[in-house]
Amino acid sequence: MPSPVGHALGGAIVGFLLERRRTPRAVPLSAFAVVAILPDIDFLWGRHNMETHSLGAAVLAGLAMLMWTRGKNPRLALAVTLAWSTHVLFDWLGSDDTPPLGVMAFWPLTSKFYFADAFVFEAISRRYWLSNFVPHNAWAVAKEILILGPIVAILWFRKVRKGSERF
Ligand SMILES: [Zn+2]
Repeated sequence: MPSPVGHALGGAIVGFLLERRRTPRAVPLSAFAVVAILPDIDFLWGRHNMETHSLGAAVLAGLAMLMWTRGKNPRLALAVTLAWSTHVLFDWLGSDDTPPLGVMAFWPLTSKFYFADAFVFEAISRRYWLSNFVPHNAWAVAKEILILGPIVAILWFRKVRKGSERF
């Protein structure tokens, strides 16, 4: 399960990919970074990796945005759905050491947990009392930046060259 840094980069990638030129109101990339972090809000009510970590929740978030914009910005709604989905994807691809492993990816169709067993991203430790807490998490965040940073950098460079606005 990546850190908020990795999730924010995932949201930014979606923002970069779906941006378009000459629209009246620009939505900052940071908004998509926040959307991509949002599924972890489930820590607050103790159902981590469950309903909010699903493609169903991603669709609901997009529908909420569609209603918020009164149907005028389906592209923005799609971007919200995709930014939320990157969180589900990254957690699925990441390490997990707390059962049930993985995420409830296809809620509400099924409450089964899905786990890629791919360990692309490290699990973020919340066991602050352990001696490797800081070095492990620092490595985890560095790995996220190493994997996702170049993608963000390329998209950023492309955007600067095009000089485009967002949404
Ligand atoms: Zn998560």
